[in-house]
Amino acid sequence: MSYPFDFLVYIGRFQPFHKGHLAVVEAGLQQAGHLIVLCGSSHQPRSTRNPWQWQEREQMLRASLPDSVQSRLLVAPLMDAHYNDEQWVRNVQVTVNGLVATHHRLPHKTPRIGLIGHRKEHSSYYLNLFPQWVSAQVEHYAGINATALRAGFFAAQTERDPAFAQMALEQLPPAVSEWLQMFSATAACQELRDEQAFVAKYRRAWAAAPYEPSFVTVDAVVVQSGHVLLVERKARPGKGLLALPGGFVDPHERIRDACLRELKEETRIKVPVPVLRGSIRRADVFDEPYRSARGRTITHAFYIELEPSSELPKVKGGDDARTAQWVPLGELDPEQMFEDHYFIIQAMVGL
Ligand code: NAD
Repeated sequence: MSYPFDFLVYIGRFQPFHKGHLAVVEAGLQQAGHLIVLCGSSHQPRSTRNPWQWQEREQMLRASLPDSVQSRLLVAPLMDAHYNDEQWVRNVQVTVNGLVATHHRLPHKTPRIGLIGHRKEHSSYYLNLFPQWVSAQVEHYAGINATALRAGFFAAQTERDPAFAQMALEQLPPAVSEWLQMFSATAACQELRDEQAFVAKYRRAWAAAPYEPSFVTVDAVVVQSGHVLLVERKARPGKGLLALPGGFVDPHERIRDACLRELKEETRIKVPVPVLRGSIRRADVFDEPYRSARGRTITHAFYIELEPSSELPKVKGGDDARTAQWVPLGELDPEQMFEDHYFIIQAMVGL
């Protein structure tokens, strides 16, 4: 059978995989020999915005399709690079090139590659970043909202909750509803439900504000001799994850002072404040709109580069930090890191 495309690329988060996504996948399989599905925002810890790992999203997708098309579906993880679109585009290119090299059966013919997706709103701007691929537009399937599906699923204490069950019936392929039913019984699901309850309470505290609030925070990226200073979070959100030392700016405080204060409180680093202040190499703002589940949070990060030494300064967790530790840059694990802190380090250190 011949198709207008050898490969169509479909990028998305699929959190969860819903009937709108399924319709796009079916349209893609009608037009291409292979559909490459890239599961975005992979290799992050589970969060209420990105609850399911890429392998779980692949299971939802494959379970929703017949056996006859499985071999034409190529599914791969795709990491974000929140503050470097070029790096993200490169991740897409490298992944697609690898899959095309493996699956293109006519090496003497240039593969016809296209990109499929629906330009829904500002968040789909990324569909314009691939001019080398023909764009295959698809219809929007109305009445489907992944954000509401996630909120409904985690707010429901069981997947049989009538409000969620109705939403699931209308918006999810039956195989995904079944998959979620199984997931509902796991400890990971309970953890996400607890996190969701925390975030909902946090947001309720601000519900009376006349406008949705924006919070200002600070983060310290302290580096010495190939190690970065991290803390383990003592409380929700992100309890147990590794984070940059940092926190909220006090009402009467300058931003740089807030950063040094939080750094000292959370790590008790044995370096005098004037030395820390003098070691600030640069500052930058990190403002990805969804970077925090608590609400719009804009952070100012300070890159503090300490003189190389064979001994790292002593640190000890304090305040909101259970522990403080120096982590070799080569051992940073994005799946263990809170919010966008991995991407902040990536941007500031140049990883
Ligand atoms: P999504 O699951 O919301 O949507 C995926 C695709 O399906 C989109 O084309 C969307 O328009 C389409 N779709 C969704 N609902 C539909 C419906 N009802 N009917 C028809 N089509 C529908 O995923 P997303 O958030 O758009 O995924 C983009 C991914 O790319 C994310 O992981 C994001 O982080 C990543 N990204 C990363 C960077 C970076 O790191 N620099 C930059 C851009 C994008």
